[in-house]
Amino acid sequence: MSAVIVVAVDGPAGSGKSSVSKAVALERGFAYYDTGAAYRALAWAAVKAGVDLQSEEAVLTVQQSARYEASQDPSRQEFFVDGTDVTEAIRGAEVSDTVSQIARHPRVREGLVAHFRNVLSSCDKPGIVMEGRDITTVVAPDATVRVLLTASEEVRIARRQAELSGGMAQPVAESLKARDRSDQSVVDFMNAAPGVSVIDSGPLTFDESVEAMLSLIDETVGGSDG
Ligand code: C5P
Repeated sequence: MSAVIVVAVDGPAGSGKSSVSKAVALERGFAYYDTGAAYRALAWAAVKAGVDLQSEEAVLTVQQSARYEASQDPSRQEFFVDGTDVTEAIRGAEVSDTVSQIARHPRVREGLVAHFRNVLSSCDKPGIVMEGRDITTVVAPDATVRVLLTASEEVRIARRQAELSGGMAQPVAESLKARDRSDQSVVDFMNAAPGVSVIDSGPLTFDESVEAMLSLIDETVGGSDG
């Protein structure tokens, strides 16, 4: 029996799931775990090793030998591969454009799913918010709260473009669409599985999205302990 509250959050790129999940974790004193960062770190390591990303065997070899460390503090996110700080590098265009290729391999996913379940079962906080694409369905289908955070493609692209300067706007739109297309052929994160609550962040402000997720947690957990 585990008393740890698990909040599983899925959604496409640009849905706001990372920033909303972090804010929820901070508000509740929960741990926060970004599974996308683990896929990104593996893509970074595979590119650095110069292996063929289409080869599952080659990517598995990198996965099995690389030591990955990720912080679970929502206010301070840092990621390391074999002691090298990759926090910035995993957000770069090279990783964003290649990560879907390594995420397609079933045995690579199996290894990462096992790692994520281990993170959940060894959580030493009262709760943990874990976000990605298959957390509500594959990694933790029995999570306390399961949320799909969505937004229309237009809204998601506009958000990503707003983060960058003008010249980068078009490549960002194309890159996001291509990544979504590839990712959706592996897992369905656009439609909620049975029992998963949907929050459409499109018409909501950031604070309203955070409130919506906190309310879902309170409704499920009771919210009457204070
Ligand atoms: O969440 P983020 O956009 O950083 O994820 C990067 C990539 O990692 C996704 O585009 C997808 O290919 C992969 N991913 C995944 N399953 C997850 C989380 C991320 O396949 N649970």
